[in-house]
Amino acid sequence: MDINDIKATIRDAASTAGRKAGEIANKTKIKFALANLQGDLDELYEKLGRLYYEAVTQGINNGTKESAIITKIDSIKDDMEILKAEIGEFPRKGKICRHCGKNIPKNSSFCPYCGKDA
Ligand SMILES: [Zn+2]
Repeated sequence: MDINDIKATIRDAASTAGRKAGEIANKTKIKFALANLQGDLDELYEKLGRLYYEAVTQGINNGTKESAIITKIDSIKDDMEILKAEIGEFPRKGKICRHCGKNIPKNSSFCPYCGKDA
């Protein structure tokens, strides 16, 4: 699933939400999207591992390909952070907002709950 499709899905779900049922459906969609992205991530890690193996064992210079994959991995991870924030799930490495006390992503400069600087 493309990230733009996911974002569109969230927007659609959000606009029809307001009722608990809608929110739960939205959460389910986001969790599904997250599982999809995790699958993409696993594939990219595997590709990266193969390229590294080739580089070490056969002396093939895969530097450019590896950088492209790392860029993709980083972008997927960012997207996943956003989606996780939507459903109130953050990685364990998160930090606590000093204003409202909620668990928020480690590198966020603003708290997604209270909006204050984190
Ligand atoms: Zn906060």
